[in-house]
Amino acid sequence: MIVVTGATGQLGRLVIDELLTKVPASQVAAVVRDKDKAAGLAERGVELRIGDYSQPETLSGAFRAGDRVLLISGSEVGQRVAQHQAVIDAAKDAGVALLAYTGVLGGPEADFKLAAEHKVTEQAILDSALPYTFLRNGWYHENYTANLAPVLEHGAVLQSAGDGRVASAARADYAAAAAAVLTGEGHENATYELSGDVAWSFEEYAAELSRRTGKTIAYANVPAEQHLAVLTGAGLPEAFAEILVDVDAAVARGLLARQNGDLARLIGRPTTPIADAVKQALAA
Ligand code: NDP
Repeated sequence: MIVVTGATGQLGRLVIDELLTKVPASQVAAVVRDKDKAAGLAERGVELRIGDYSQPETLSGAFRAGDRVLLISGSEVGQRVAQHQAVIDAAKDAGVALLAYTGVLGGPEADFKLAAEHKVTEQAILDSALPYTFLRNGWYHENYTANLAPVLEHGAVLQSAGDGRVASAARADYAAAAAAVLTGEGHENATYELSGDVAWSFEEYAAELSRRTGKTIAYANVPAEQHLAVLTGAGLPEAFAEILVDVDAAVARGLLARQNGDLARLIGRPTTPIADAVKQALAA
């Protein structure tokens, strides 16, 4: 069985969509914490297994011997080391055949705050001695294109990333890579650095938005303190705003521009251009 955790999330749903183009639904299971949210998956023939990363006892029935499992990293930043450890322990107890994990581009070399829990998780997976695949995901296009309202309102892409570049790809590209690993052969104990084929700058991103909207949208590169003030002023919790500003510092250092072609190779096609994601977001 191929088992996907976080299957009711945005990436997880896309992974399931991809899997169902490759294997029968009877070979796919979804680990979810909310059965109602997963009703659509059950209707498509996907087996539902209940499990909450925060409640280890609920994970005891989530996996079986021989399963090929995708652990989609959790979204509760600060809780994730213990949560992921609980999933790893349950997978180990069950004797799964493969544990694939969605980490962060650069792995141990990613030195920004958001990367810390991914590094600890990768080490825990290594310590478990389970066969693993590290899917070190770069940034989603959608991290930017899903938040266009303030950009369009102010005519500005406000960041603090200097002239740093982002080799992002569509969430669907990362989902296709995960599905390729789960259904393919020879990915045991492999690490993939997954990123888009093109590393773009915020200047270029703003120019693309201008072109598509017919409005003047400029890149406003501001100091980190000002970026933080704008984000908190817009209502973001301080801790989350700090994480986003820290990400921009990492972008400025080039950490999210890494490219080695792993993503295009795994999915067997070029990655989705940022322009397509912009077009899609503006049409939504
Ligand atoms: P989502 O927030 O859409 O999905 C997160 C998934 O994790 C959801 O299915 C959620 O369940 C599940 N989850 C969270 N906490 C628990 C828990 N305690 N027990 C069981 N399941 C849990 O994020 P995405 O799908 O967009 O991204 C997947 C992951 O990738 C994120 O969780 C995050 O770790 C990371 N990420 C990567 C980014 C990138 O640019 N590479 C950007 C943002 C996040 P439920 O559906 O019930 O809420």
